[in-house]
Amino acid sequence: MSTTEEKRSGPDFIRRIINEDLASGRFQPPVVTRFPPEPNGYLHIGHAKSICLNFGIAREYGGRCHLRFDDTNPEKEEEEYVRSIMEDVRWLGFDWGEHLYYASDYFDQLYEWAKELIKKGKAYVCDLSAEEVRQYRGTLTEPGKESPYRNRSVEENLELFERMRRGEFPDGSKTLRAKIDMASPNLNLRDPVMYRIMRVPHHRTGDKWCIYPTYDWAHGQSDSIEGITHSICTLEFEDHRPLYDWFLEQLGVHHPRQIEFARLNLTYTVLSKRRLLELVQSGYVSGWDDPRMPTIAGLRRRGYTPESIRNFCEQIGVAKADTVVSIDLLEHCVREDLNRRAERRMAVLRPLRVVIENYPEDQVEELEAINNPEDPSAGTRKVPFCRELYIEQDDFREEPPPKYYRLAPGREVRLRYAYFIKCVGVIKDEQGRVRELRCVYDPATRGGDAPDGRRVKATIHWVSARHAVDAEVRLYDRLFVKADPDDVEPGQDWKANLNPKSLEVLTGCKLEPALKDVKPGERFQFERLGYFCADLRDCQPGRPVFNRTVTLKDTWAKIEQKLKQASGGRE
Ligand code: ATP
Ligand code: MG
Repeated sequence: MSTTEEKRSGPDFIRRIINEDLASGRFQPPVVTRFPPEPNGYLHIGHAKSICLNFGIAREYGGRCHLRFDDTNPEKEEEEYVRSIMEDVRWLGFDWGEHLYYASDYFDQLYEWAKELIKKGKAYVCDLSAEEVRQYRGTLTEPGKESPYRNRSVEENLELFERMRRGEFPDGSKTLRAKIDMASPNLNLRDPVMYRIMRVPHHRTGDKWCIYPTYDWAHGQSDSIEGITHSICTLEFEDHRPLYDWFLEQLGVHHPRQIEFARLNLTYTVLSKRRLLELVQSGYVSGWDDPRMPTIAGLRRRGYTPESIRNFCEQIGVAKADTVVSIDLLEHCVREDLNRRAERRMAVLRPLRVVIENYPEDQVEELEAINNPEDPSAGTRKVPFCRELYIEQDDFREEPPPKYYRLAPGREVRLRYAYFIKCVGVIKDEQGRVRELRCVYDPATRGGDAPDGRRVKATIHWVSARHAVDAEVRLYDRLFVKADPDDVEPGQDWKANLNPKSLEVLTGCKLEPALKDVKPGERFQFERLGYFCADLRDCQPGRPVFNRTVTLKDTWAKIEQKLKQASGGRE
């Protein structure tokens, strides 16, 4: 499902439908779409797919996309979610302009329309309990049974519905149901519930209502009120479309077209809000914006750019069949973007002290380092060099294994932007752990090669000990150990696959001084280590805290390369 493939085969199936509707005159421009989140959690990468699709289509067709809060279920909804959703949609780069709506704005109109259906004999008040409604509904193989209340008169229904609204009946004791067909092969048409009684204050309407419309009753009518032309939703609503159409036909109002597409699933990730909420509430993560969460807020804090997420959504495209996308592709997209944009810096995460014995005690040199080899306009910066440095513990082995070319006793390597150094001594503590390396440098190799042509096989990064800035760095790994978090032993649930090593906090990391006053949200490539982002919550002036966005190893690029080779280089 590569982009090139899609471009070759023209627009996707949704855009083809829109083109047909415009050509046939079923809808006049402008094309109007909507993104309808329920404010019961933070947005995640799956929502980003829907946002990019809906706002993207509106942009392409010169139409508009509404942001509509689908706030029909007051039990689970909160103001905090409304705020975060708006922030996240904006951050992704989209703008609903003045078209911000709430399904709750339509409660009065929906109530009037419900009475209209009652008057037409198309809806009735039912006294069955929720449990009984379920039992009467039947199954896929058995038809349902008609409710004993189904044939109440219009007058009785109008009166009872009015009394439901006035709060004369206890919660759950009555519902308003559409009168359709208890034998329909589509369960959604077996007299679906339109209203339930719930004495729950609503975040916008307060105590005004004690009856609330169901999703099915609210959604299509909200689309109609707003003049939506194409109501794009995920596949689980495919079986609801006949009901969506039925309500609009009965009312004889503007009738948008519902189109379903496959939701995004990602390997090593859960994307259900119920599960994400559980991770937050049970403290498996530090919050909705924990950098390990697949939420937009989490990805932002992790260091993802809006561009990389939009690019990801474009690459995966839209289809009618469920698929699971590799998280490697998402990581590939942010790497590609940051490779172009992030400035390079040197940082040592697990420091090992190096003393250069033949370097003058008081001398400091300012060496020139390139900010971004992919972007010459990013220029250069000065990095101080002196007698005592830090290198990565990992870049030294007392007994180097085969193919290990970095520092070892008697061996010479290049320090990035600086000199060749050779290890001439190892100082250990009482437990025998390496505490310090004694080295000598070759002044003739400054910033380049040795004049005598001798070679080194490795270049390592370093930070001047005297100038280093101390920092905390958080290394994140996948939140789950299995590609499919639901792949568990009997008796376990998906949480059994949580990765106990998904977070490693390193303190006492050493950064080059240019990073001292880094601002929250700034992103860099730490040379040889990966991409890192200054934490949006915890980073303070002079006390940097960084999150690792991704390592440098691009698994996806390797897979793509292999595919290319396999197909003989034909993309
Ligand atoms: P969840 O299953 O995570 O609880 P939801 O569908 O209940 O999600 P909503 O707030 O109702 O969440 O979703 C708003 C919009 O985002 C809907 O149009 C929905 O179809 C879409 N959406 C939700 N999850 C995904 C996903 N994984 N991929 C694509 N679109 C999604
Ligand atoms: Mg939903």
